[in-house]
Amino acid sequence: MAGYQLEFRRNDHPMDNREHEELALLGHVPAAHIVDLTDLGIVVESTARDNLERVATQVPPPSMSQSFLAPVDGVKNKRCQEWTMDVVYISGAGSGIGRASALQFVADGARKLAIVDIVSGGLQQSTALIKERSSHVDLLSIVADLSKEEEVHRVFAEIQQRFGRLDVAVNCAGITGTYLPIEQLSSADLDKVLNVNLRSLWLCEKAQIEQFMRQEERPVITGLGTKTRGSIVNIASMLGTITMPHASPYVMSKHGVVGLTKTDALDYANRGIRVNAICPGFIQTNLLDSTGWEALAPLCAATPMNRLGTAEEVAFVVTFLASDRASFMTGSVVLADGGYTVK
Ligand code: NAP
Repeated sequence: MAGYQLEFRRNDHPMDNREHEELALLGHVPAAHIVDLTDLGIVVESTARDNLERVATQVPPPSMSQSFLAPVDGVKNKRCQEWTMDVVYISGAGSGIGRASALQFVADGARKLAIVDIVSGGLQQSTALIKERSSHVDLLSIVADLSKEEEVHRVFAEIQQRFGRLDVAVNCAGITGTYLPIEQLSSADLDKVLNVNLRSLWLCEKAQIEQFMRQEERPVITGLGTKTRGSIVNIASMLGTITMPHASPYVMSKHGVVGLTKTDALDYANRGIRVNAICPGFIQTNLLDSTGWEALAPLCAATPMNRLGTAEEVAFVVTFLASDRASFMTGSVVLADGGYTVK
């Protein structure tokens, strides 16, 4: 059956009779039925998401604290990727691709989110949109300048304190910097871009991998028998694989992100940690506006699909790569550029 599944996980003692009775009640929720009932927990399935959301909030069994609601694709016991996404971290989530990714994770069933951005305004808007989409998200919103090492430490300490673990990290915060030929750039122009786009991402990835390594491996949810500790998706750029005029700081930073992605992918491939990069082409966000390019029409014309991409189109790739469905992908550099780089 395609629809939604709600899972309650057992805390630390086997279910007793009373709980069995309560769980049986769940089966009487209109249009919902129990698909799995074991010492590990219970799974209830329904086509009516509202029903399951009501069950999740109103009748949780006493010894089961956690609940996960996620779409299913109709294949019995093959839950969707979203079941893996217990705690999801996204930087740059107050805008553009980061915000779209946060919303897509929520749409896919993620229920514990840490969103980070440098200013609070965008994060507040993202928070409102996330709450609109689901009232069941445990949301941690942190304002932080991720180019500062102490801020990075604070962010991951807060996540550890609130959620106790991390499953998925999306490193999306970034800036374009100044686009000029090198003779007109200062070292300060270079430092600014490298600090935000590369050094900061390195600091965040280090904190994420340290957290993953403190966690036990768990089986992937696709039932394919492998294990995972966590997954990282870095938002690089097609300018991490090609170049364009006057963009040396940005191009350097994004080539660096691709290099970091591949190196950490290699170092942790056999320790249950996957690290992948997405290389978007021209995507309609504030970042593109901030380049100061007066007309975007030439960018569309230069893109074989003859249009800009949307943040949502990148977010679909983010949530796939982050998920257990991408369990054999690590060190991948995935282009989402409307065909720009195949010209
Ligand atoms: P966006 O809408 O500007 O989002 C980026 C977010 O990151 C902004 O909210 C930005 O805040 C925030 N940020 C900047 N510096 C930060 C810092 N030090 N600490 C924490 N947050 C910080 O742009 P986007 O297009 O979604 O970009 C997301 C990522 O995609 C970036 O890494 C970008 O390089 C990459 N990308 C974008 C495109 C494109 O065409 N849009 C193409 C390829 C790659 P402020 O707005 O205050 O700076």
